Amino acid sequence: MTSIAANLQAVRRRIERAAREAGRAPDGVQLIAVSKTWPAERVAEAHACGQRAFGENQVQEGVEKIGRLTHLAIEWHFIGPIQSNKTRPISEHFQWVHSVEREKVAVRLDDARPAHLPPLDVCIQVNVSGEGSKSGVEPGQEAELARIIAGLPRLRLRGLMAIPEPTADRRLQRQRFALLRDAKDRLAAAGYALDTLSMGMSDDFEAAILEGATMVRVGTAIFGQRQKA
Ligand SMILES: *Cc1c(COP(=O)(O)O)cnc(C)c1O
Repeated sequence: MTSIAANLQAVRRRIERAAREAGRAPDGVQLIAVSKTWPAERVAEAHACGQRAFGENQVQEGVEKIGRLTHLAIEWHFIGPIQSNKTRPISEHFQWVHSVEREKVAVRLDDARPAHLPPLDVCIQVNVSGEGSKSGVEPGQEAELARIIAGLPRLRLRGLMAIPEPTADRRLQRQRFALLRDAKDRLAAAGYALDTLSMGMSDDFEAAILEGATMVRVGTAIFGQRQKA
């Protein structure tokens, strides 16, 4: 068995175990394999092991990889920071965008979504770590952006995403993920039909699943340690 095959199996087992501990069905947690920095061949290898959803955080790298793998049925997720002048290739090539954090980007993604494709599935990124992180809207501000996205016909608001600062403290991990779940519950109470909580990475996805994650974004535990940029 290749290491990617073994790693995928181990990650799927960890997901199952955490879901069981949370009293949830394991298939309620979708695994997004984060393939950033890894070549298309590694993606194809993971695809051959049954993995179907992949995440990229850089536009050019992602679009190139997508172009090399059009023969495979893959759901592509954009999970990185978005400059408003890079929205068109994202809208044209990805099915999901997890990292929408401002109106201008939402409007431009909507504008650029090709008519022959279904609406782009999006999440609003929320900053659940306070000062330590500058990405995402502040908790409590997501409703304003949700209202704007709901008015954009080529976007479909699916939920919220967060990238908490790394910590080995399990209690703190769960507290931050709980903040995102609370934010989603507030939006649900305000009438938004949301089904997605994108939270949890290689080192903390069990805590995220215990707090309700429906998508975990896992890179290192599947593909190995990335080279430092
Ligand atoms: C890189 C990245 C991940 C995966 O991180 P790992 O620690 O390698 O699992 C998840 N989400 C986002 C937004 C990322 O940029």
